[in-house]
Amino acid sequence: METRRYRDTRRLDTTRPAFTDAVVKGIALGGGLYVPEDLPTFTLAEVLALADMPYWKRAAVIFERFGVDLPAERIGELMRLSYGENFDDPRIAPIEEVIAGMHVLELWHGPTSAFKDMALQCMPVFFSEGIALKQSRGELTDDYLVLVATSGDTGKAALEGFADRDHTRIVVFYPAEGVSDIQRKQMVTQRGENVSVFGVRGNFDDCQNAVKAAFNDEAFNTELHEKHGLRLSSANSINWGRLLPQIAYYVSAYADMVASGGVTAGDEIDVCVPTGNFGNILGAYYAKRMGVPLGKLLCASNENNVLADFIATGTYDISARRFVTTPSPSMDILISSNLERLLFELAGAERVREWMASLSAEGRFQVDRETFRLMREHFIGDWVSNDESLGVIARVYDETGYLMDPHTAVAWEVAERLRDANPVLVVSTAHWAKFGGDVFKALTGLLYDDPLPEDAAKLSGVELLGRVQELAGNACVPRALAELDAAEQRFTAVVDAGKDGVENAVRGWLG
Ligand SMILES: *Cc1c(COP(=O)(O)O)cnc(C)c1O
Repeated sequence: METRRYRDTRRLDTTRPAFTDAVVKGIALGGGLYVPEDLPTFTLAEVLALADMPYWKRAAVIFERFGVDLPAERIGELMRLSYGENFDDPRIAPIEEVIAGMHVLELWHGPTSAFKDMALQCMPVFFSEGIALKQSRGELTDDYLVLVATSGDTGKAALEGFADRDHTRIVVFYPAEGVSDIQRKQMVTQRGENVSVFGVRGNFDDCQNAVKAAFNDEAFNTELHEKHGLRLSSANSINWGRLLPQIAYYVSAYADMVASGGVTAGDEIDVCVPTGNFGNILGAYYAKRMGVPLGKLLCASNENNVLADFIATGTYDISARRFVTTPSPSMDILISSNLERLLFELAGAERVREWMASLSAEGRFQVDRETFRLMREHFIGDWVSNDESLGVIARVYDETGYLMDPHTAVAWEVAERLRDANPVLVVSTAHWAKFGGDVFKALTGLLYDDPLPEDAAKLSGVELLGRVQELAGNACVPRALAELDAAEQRFTAVVDAGKDGVENAVRGWLG
């Protein structure tokens, strides 16, 4: 297979990297995002043939067709590492038909029980391979230090993905008072010799600003290079290495849907995705462009509904928007960074430059009529309120016995509202047990803003999961979560917010 090259969405970077290079670089020169120069296509027969393969092989086939710059055999080896015993279901991304025509694609069988694992179990493996390649070609002497600011889920998934990967180290900063008991314990009990975790005195914004300031501090970058042979990287969700694995599960899911009789070969299925940064649903869009028979792509938002408004009106406007907290925090986003890739595919680099300039200057941009029409050919959107999403969890559990997390509930509700005759694939992005407090509220009829009853509020996050199980008899808790209270807490340090807090934490750890 010929190596495929990448260009950026603003056409400001002339380097045309191959896959592993684009992954190591992360963001393009000039601030654009890497996209493939062209897309491979699959015939229906090629899609359906995936159903007979284990998941790692399906992902390998898709990476090969994408012209990833590694030998096919090596891609296969890396995919076995990415999608194997680290998942608690051998199907990796199984599909459950919950009611007739509504199929839930479960993307949370990985080690951290959330969808980020689908990309972050895979991307670090290729990142590490990419560094090794560059070093062997003499283009690089440094290893990489990944710095992450997290509001919860991404930090843990990144830690688990990078733990003990060659040529990489990772440090995660989380707001000490801003994550749930379970989220904190998931991070501070992380295994691995190349990982570290710090709480930050402050909120998520403080965390993120401090990490950004460290990235932009030239003296700090020089010090890391000279003293430790390290370069900084962020491995965030705009990295193409996180996008490509998310295309794979949509191709794979269509093959599974046909194999199980959920859809007749060649007929369309619609896909409904709980959306934040637009990365997950963009995977579905690319899969559709590559020939997978997907119909409407339903974009589901919570009360931070800037995307639902954009898809309805063609105007993206955050100039007067306030950030709302919701029971689906991984979708609490104002700037959906991966949207830039869709805009590029629909309208080209020149428009993207205009719109992104307008977004940073005025907090808004409006697409032209032709782009709006093209977007509406594929996408419709809607949003769900905080209390509605808890109501959905209770209703679906009562009616079907299927327990879902608040992110999935947002997608379920939007799918029910917008579905037509096509079968719908509702994308489930977290195990319910990651958000046990809100699931408990849902099952006991409380509203989102209600406090937990006193006897529940004094329980640890894990103990509260036991209370949910008393209410929902068939609900299982993943082993890694159930064992959290007993696990050793390796990382207890809390540091000051600000650049110095973050940099000194890194210095202290590197020694
Ligand atoms: C990250 C995340 C999302 C949002 O995915 P995007 O790719 O950012 O749109 C939804 N649900 C959960 C549980 C997540 O962790």
